[in-house]
Amino acid sequence: MAKIGGDSPKLDAELLLARATGLTRTSFITWPEREISEAQAQDFQALVDQRAEGQPIAYLLGEQEFWSLPLKVSPTTLIPRPDTECLVETALDLALPADARVLDLGTGTGAIALALASERRQWQIMATDRVAEAVELARQNSERLGLPVSVLQSDWFAQLPPESRFDLLISNPPYIPASDRHLGEGDVRFEPTSALVSGDDGLDDIRTLIQNAPGWLTDNGWLMLEHGYDQGEAVRKLFSAAGWRAVETRRDYGGNERLTLA
Ligand code: GLN
Repeated sequence: MAKIGGDSPKLDAELLLARATGLTRTSFITWPEREISEAQAQDFQALVDQRAEGQPIAYLLGEQEFWSLPLKVSPTTLIPRPDTECLVETALDLALPADARVLDLGTGTGAIALALASERRQWQIMATDRVAEAVELARQNSERLGLPVSVLQSDWFAQLPPESRFDLLISNPPYIPASDRHLGEGDVRFEPTSALVSGDDGLDDIRTLIQNAPGWLTDNGWLMLEHGYDQGEAVRKLFSAAGWRAVETRRDYGGNERLTLA
């Protein structure tokens, strides 16, 4: 039988039931039988129907955890992935100034910038996104979590104040090739194409970032980019060809090449 609605139906059902009733998941174990109202039952059924059509659980809940932070999400942004936490971990390991200036480009929900802000109160953290709704969402997440990040609407570097310089530029840009079969499966079907796809080889935005970043960095500043599991070599070549030093790729928790920094 064709599988519908994801790999963890029991967990998903519990999460959606909790959402529809306002009860906690653990209360289903400690107090498994009780009546819910007709309205709650209808809300639950509507959520289950959407999940069965493939709607990502994060969009139905309106929330996704990243770096242990509960982030608001919406269909105008990519859903933060655990793999992206590797960028946060790697950034925290860099020898940066105590008051480092950091910019998260294409921030979406604000995930990377907010995770860094939660760990380094002294860093001055900015974030940009080209999409107005994403800027608004990242600002809401920043306020809701009480983590200071200034969010600006900008198409990569285009609308940044011209004198800005950063010790670290960090980004999870779109990097999926336009013809990738993976785009027809799972959550990505419901996520914004603009957050996922970047030209025929998936590297258009990565090329833009590698070419333009040097003008926005301090001496010895870093650029760190997430990329596809099979793009490590191509990304290292792009960095090297543009004259970057100390080019290094790191793997994600699944053992795949996932980020390159220089
Ligand atoms: N890692 C995501 C996926 O393959 C894509 C994220 C991105 O394009 N930045 O589903």
